[in-house]
Amino acid sequence: MRLDGVLGQERARSQLEAEMASGRLAHAYLFVGPAGCGRGTTALALFRALNCHKREGDQPCGQCGPCRRALAGQHEDLLVLAPPEAQASAQIKAEEVREVIRALSFAPYGGGVRLVLIREAEHLNPTSANVLLKTLEEPPPGNIIVLTVQDARGILPTLVSRCRRVNLMPLEPALIAEELVRRGVEPGSAALKAAMSGGSLGRALELDEERLAADLARMARRLASREGSLADWAFAEELVKEFRGAVIDRQGLAEALDLLALYLRDQAVIAAGKPESALLPQGGPGLSLQAAIRGFWQVRRTQAQILGNATPELAITVLLRKLKEAAA
Ligand SMILES: [Zn+2]
Repeated sequence: MRLDGVLGQERARSQLEAEMASGRLAHAYLFVGPAGCGRGTTALALFRALNCHKREGDQPCGQCGPCRRALAGQHEDLLVLAPPEAQASAQIKAEEVREVIRALSFAPYGGGVRLVLIREAEHLNPTSANVLLKTLEEPPPGNIIVLTVQDARGILPTLVSRCRRVNLMPLEPALIAEELVRRGVEPGSAALKAAMSGGSLGRALELDEERLAADLARMARRLASREGSLADWAFAEELVKEFRGAVIDRQGLAEALDLLALYLRDQAVIAAGKPESALLPQGGPGLSLQAAIRGFWQVRRTQAQILGNATPELAITVLLRKLKEAAA
């Protein structure tokens, strides 16, 4: 049986399909990959493949009762735990884990395989993780537990060692653009969102084009401004503030600079005589090809510094000065 409805991820899919075909599925999996790349979707596809009643052909039918209930997220043997949304400090509580474990002691209602999906397992607090440990080692028959994480270093090694690992990759921008168009997004907008998505379909879907345009205009104004470093620092502070919670979201901040990298990439393709390949609306005087390429790599270096331990305000102020020098 094939896994249906998963975008890209050929390696992960073929690993799971082979294990399913040979009856060698693990009872606990760790799906590792960036947010929005399809970890949860893959787990749900696995569930459908295991529970479809019409086992002919090589794909789940999508029509039978189990398929329809699974697609609607209402199958009684599909249990999902996830941290409350949009809170960096959100936790999956021990009581929620206990409740799921209690449910596992009954045989799956549908007679097939029950799947417990624990999304963003980095959010299991130490107590929840400990509650889960024993069950993870040996769940009752007929149950599969799937944990998704962005980075396996984000959870206890004792959890990692009890799971079979499946690696999922960031999606190719072309694949994301194609999927967005399939969902009715206009092609130009789809290409822009795909380029800004960091390989995450989820992120591409959330991107707001007007917001992107406003952010870009703000950055372009700053680059065109003749004010000195103090004003640049104030701008950097404003930008960093948006990513400062209990700890600073360095990943998010670095991704925000993708917009600047994309702008300079566009300047390069325009200077190279290919304006039709530009993804962003361009304003103001263009850069030379050399200046655009140099600027692009300066943004990339700054992103790496931010992901390292650099003081982000300083890294961004230095970047702005270099970009202004390159444009002068
Ligand atoms: Zn079916």
